[in-house]
Amino acid sequence: MGCNYDVIVVGGGHAGSEAAYISAVMGLKTLLITNSIHHIALMPCNPAIGGPGKGHVVMEIDALGGLMAKVTDQCTLHIKKVNTGKGPAVQTLRAQTQRDQYSLIIRKYLENTPFLSIFQGEVSDLILNSNGEISGVKIFHGIRFQCRSVVIATGTFLNGVIKIGEISYPAGRQGEFPANHLSQSLRQKGFETGRLNTCTPPRIDKRTIDFKKCDEQKSDDLPLCFSWESTPRVYEGSSVFLTRTNENTCEIIRKNFDRSPLLYHFSDSSPVRECPSLEDKVYRFPDRVSHLVFLEPEGEKSNEIYVQGVFTSLPEETQWQILRSISGLENCHIIRPGYGIEYDFILPTQLKLSLESKPIPGLFFAGQINGTSGYEEAAGQGILAGINAGRYVQNKPAIILQRDESYLGVMVDDLITKGVEEPYRLRTGKVEYRLLIRHSNADVRLAEYGYQAGTISLNRYRMIQEKKNIIAQEVKRLENTNIFPSVDLNRFLEKKHTNPLPEPTRINSLLTRPQINYYDLSPFDPDRPFLSPDILEEVEIQTKYRGYIERQIKSVNEFRQMENRPIPPHFPFDQLKILSREAQEQLQALRPTTLGQASRIRGVTPSDLAALLILLEKFRKEE
Ligand SMILES: Cc1cc2nc3c(=O)[nH]c(=O)nc-3n(C[C@H](O)[C@H](O)[C@H](O)COP(=O)(O)OP(=O)(O)OC[C@H]3O[C@@H](n4cnc5c(N)ncnc54)[C@H](O)[C@@H]3O)c2cc1C
Repeated sequence: MGCNYDVIVVGGGHAGSEAAYISAVMGLKTLLITNSIHHIALMPCNPAIGGPGKGHVVMEIDALGGLMAKVTDQCTLHIKKVNTGKGPAVQTLRAQTQRDQYSLIIRKYLENTPFLSIFQGEVSDLILNSNGEISGVKIFHGIRFQCRSVVIATGTFLNGVIKIGEISYPAGRQGEFPANHLSQSLRQKGFETGRLNTCTPPRIDKRTIDFKKCDEQKSDDLPLCFSWESTPRVYEGSSVFLTRTNENTCEIIRKNFDRSPLLYHFSDSSPVRECPSLEDKVYRFPDRVSHLVFLEPEGEKSNEIYVQGVFTSLPEETQWQILRSISGLENCHIIRPGYGIEYDFILPTQLKLSLESKPIPGLFFAGQINGTSGYEEAAGQGILAGINAGRYVQNKPAIILQRDESYLGVMVDDLITKGVEEPYRLRTGKVEYRLLIRHSNADVRLAEYGYQAGTISLNRYRMIQEKKNIIAQEVKRLENTNIFPSVDLNRFLEKKHTNPLPEPTRINSLLTRPQINYYDLSPFDPDRPFLSPDILEEVEIQTKYRGYIERQIKSVNEFRQMENRPIPPHFPFDQLKILSREAQEQLQALRPTTLGQASRIRGVTPSDLAALLILLEKFRKEE
């Protein structure tokens, strides 16, 4: 064929779109091959982006030059700042988007990016050269494309089987063919695969909902957006509504437990525990009958309403009964029934931190195929795999994000060191150094990597350096500037239920009081510079939480000393009788490259680590 590419990306979902886009932005000749161009970046579940943990990833994708944040901003219907009652570490945004628009806008970006071509087809096999390195892909209809690096991002399509009640049939998603040939090809090439499952709720016609019986949740009245490239906006007119299940709903579900493939028939695959089906919730919590149901719009011009909370794979007739038992939905009409899907994933312990596979050089994996669930998790891996596939072609070292600098780093490290037993989703609770890796500082945290990879421009890089300097200067000014007691100030402090000021105090010290924020003090701080809201937010966090931040930095430094302690590639884990048997087997199988990685492997105990530390030292002296 003579079609030669630097990077080929297989699958145009959220992972594949980001991977293909970023590789082309790096100037590499890239081909995105996907089953259906009409389904690029499709959201088969809720068209919502962000939320705790996930919003942080969206910001990190933006910081690295990816698409998700700016595209979300172009098709948002409803947006909220979440976790506002908690600390700044876990606050982030969640947007309800227009599903079709999201997909179209991503497609437009991909179609208009230089160096990027799209081909509609099913990849059925991988081609390796005589050194065992990836050298191309084969399309089911026969043609071949050559390349130096491949990113596989095939989502739920490998050996996908849809299950609704007693019915089951092969599919990648509802209405789409599965990718069975590639699944077989991967196994033939030595990859170990497992089975996972997920499900989606029914969509209903908004004209058949009695919204008067539901509680309205409006979009925030503050202007908000994800990307630095967008202008914050207030969104009106597309509210989310809340209702609840009741005893009748639960009784219908109980009577049909034995017809749910997610409860019984999926015995050889694991579901998403953090996003359970409604039948699972009723089964596991028999005393609870009132489960929240959110009615969320799918598009400005669409009548489809996503019924968040009613994830189900029960038979279609039961889905009608369930929905019609809920207040406000008594006369609802289902447009698309919910369904469950079971699919193959590759065990992510077969990958390196760069997302390159250990057995086949140049072959990268990203997204749901690695055992994750969620658009943001997929897109985040996509951008990382795309960057590293590009760097592989450029003969440059891979970009590895650390656990203490990004949510992406935490996710990839969890995947490759612990593996998955159920679909992996990012949560703030999985992140040790939450206060250091905030939604609000993703650009500052990752600018260096984006610039190094060539995915953000010099201009953008300079803007971020400038922002960093302004923040540092203002934090310093607050440390060095006194605020003086006055009648007005003390009256204000009393109103805020905090003690009056007896003597001049540094502004930063007053700001550590939880009742006071930076903005409040503006009448008493005449010399303050004008700051944009994003800078102001960072100044406030860095000042208010300084003690906590310093403590986390100290523990990161201690952790890094251990984390970065290298383990030689030929270190004989299998001969270390002092380690527990389980640790010995796991370490030998996964071959961590640092002590930090070893510490997170399932079955490796603190005493195994202490022993490893001594053995490493001994090994180093003997070498
Ligand atoms: C029924 C269902 C319910 C879900 N529920 C949720 C949920 O509640 N919450 C949540 O966050 N996420 C949910 N997800 C998961 C979410 O959709 C995925 O995590 C996300 O879309 C994964 O992105 P991806 O890029 O890895 O794969 P996908 O978005 O699945 O995209 C894969 C792409 O690869 C293409 N492809 C596959 N094989 C080949 C091949 N051999 N050759 C060429 N192209 C190929 C496909 O056509 C598709 O375009 C659900 C998914 C499904 C299907």
